[in-house]
Amino acid sequence: MLMGNTSMREIKKLLIANRGEIALRIHRACHEMGIKTVAVHSTADADAMHVRLADEAVCIGPPSATDSYLNIPNIISAAEISGADAIHPGYGFLSENAKFAEIVEAHDLIFVGPKPEHIRIMGDKVEAKRTAGALGLPLVPGSDGAITDVDEAKRLAREIGYPVLIKAASGGGGRGMKVVPGEDSLETLMSQAGSEAKAAFGDATVYMEKYLGNPRHIEFQIFGDGEGKAIHLGERDCSLQRRHQKVLEEAPSPILSRAERDRMGGIVARAMADMGYRGAGTIEFLWEDGEFYFIEMNTRLQVEHPITEMITGLDLVREQIRVAEGRGLTCTQDEVRFEGHAIECRINAEDPRSFAPSPGTVTQFHAPGGMHVRVDSGLYTGYRVPPYYDSMIAKLIVYGTTRERCLMRLKRALEEFVIEGMKTTIPLHQALLDDPEFQRGDYTIKWLEEWLARQQ
Ligand code: ADP
Repeated sequence: MLMGNTSMREIKKLLIANRGEIALRIHRACHEMGIKTVAVHSTADADAMHVRLADEAVCIGPPSATDSYLNIPNIISAAEISGADAIHPGYGFLSENAKFAEIVEAHDLIFVGPKPEHIRIMGDKVEAKRTAGALGLPLVPGSDGAITDVDEAKRLAREIGYPVLIKAASGGGGRGMKVVPGEDSLETLMSQAGSEAKAAFGDATVYMEKYLGNPRHIEFQIFGDGEGKAIHLGERDCSLQRRHQKVLEEAPSPILSRAERDRMGGIVARAMADMGYRGAGTIEFLWEDGEFYFIEMNTRLQVEHPITEMITGLDLVREQIRVAEGRGLTCTQDEVRFEGHAIECRINAEDPRSFAPSPGTVTQFHAPGGMHVRVDSGLYTGYRVPPYYDSMIAKLIVYGTTRERCLMRLKRALEEFVIEGMKTTIPLHQALLDDPEFQRGDYTIKWLEEWLARQQ
C-alpha cells in the first residue's frame, strides 16, 4: 500500500458551490485557515449572507436550481474566472454527483470530497449494498441486487416475510420507497415504485428490503485520507423524522453503549480504510433489538455534522480541506475523544403544525447565545427567504456535559430565539423538548409521526 502523500497541493482560493447556511459554514472554515472564498449564487440569492461575506461572488444563473446551483458549466466557469483552485460542493445540489467531481478534477481543480468512483458506487443503492456487504457491514435482509421479475419478488418476499419495502436504487431524500403489506399488493406497488423512481430520478431500478418494524436511525461519521487510513467519529441518532426527513439529531445516541460504539465504529472505519475512501462520509444504519443494518452511505458532509464537531472538538470542514490538500487526517483513532452530548434542531420556514412552507421577509432576527450554543444560519433582519429552495433556515446546535444539561440548555436557547416575519418550526422543537418520552431518549423512527398525530 502506498503510504504518505506525494501530491500535496495547497488550497489558496476555494469556490463554494452551494447556498444558505452550509455555504456560510464552509466560508468560515476557509477564513479560519487563511483561504480566500468565492461565492456563487443565483439571482434570487444576490443578498445572501455567504455572498456578502465571501471575498468574491459570481452570479451563476436564475433562481431555478437546475439553471444555477446545478449548472455545472457555469460553476466551472466561475472557478476559472476567479482563479479558484478548489471547489467544495456542500450537501445537496452537486455534492453526490460523480460526474461533477470528475469534471472538477478534469479542470485541474481540487474537489473537496471523495474520489468520483466512490461517489458513483454509493449513489447507486444496489451497488452500495453489495459493496457494503463485501466490506463486512451487516445488511438489511433483502434482494441480492435489483429486482425485475414479479414471481421472483414474490418468492423473495415470502422468504423475508411481509411487510417488505420496495426502494429505488437512485432514491434519496426519503423518496422512492413503498411499504408492501402483503402479496396482493406486491405487483402493483412494485410497478408504481419503478415508474415513480423513473420520473423522479430517471432510473426505474428498484430493490427489496425487509421493512423493519420500529428501528432507530443511527449513522456513523467516518473520515478517510484516501490512502488507506480511516477513522470514525462516533455516531449520531437521527431517529426523529417526519416523512423520512430528519428533524432533530443527537450525538451520542441515547441507547448506544461505549462498547457498541467502539465495535461498530471499528467495523466502519476498517471498511473505509479497505476501500481507500477519501474525505468525509456517513454510514447510515437502522438499529433494532441490538442489531445494526446498513441502509446507505452518504459521500458528503451531512446537515447534522455540527453535533459530531461538538462532542469531538474537530472541525469537519477543516478536516475535509486538509484531506483534499493531501495533508491527511489531523488525528488517529486513539486520539479521538468523545465528550458530553450535543443536539441539533433543524429550524424550517414552515407552519409548525401543518408544515406548509412559509417563506417571507425576516422582520426581526435574534440568535440565542451563551455557553455551548451555536447557530448556523444565513438569516439577518431584512433578509428575504426565497421560495425556490429548501425550507431549512437555521440550525441550532447545543452542547452539554450530559444529555440532561444539553436538554436544559436547548430549552433555554429556544426560548431566546427570535425569528419574525414567517412561521418557523421553533414551537415544534419546544413542544418536543417537553415530552417525557423524548426526554428519556425513548423513541424510534416511527415516534415523531405518531407524536404529531397525537398533537392534532
Ligand atoms: P434516502 O436516501 O431516501 O434518505 P434511506 O435508505 O436513507 O433513503 O432511508 C431513509 C429512511 O427511510 C430511514 O431513515 C428510515 O426511516 C426509512 N427506512 C429505510 N429503509 C428502511 C427499512 N428497511 N425498514 C424500515 N424503514 C426504512
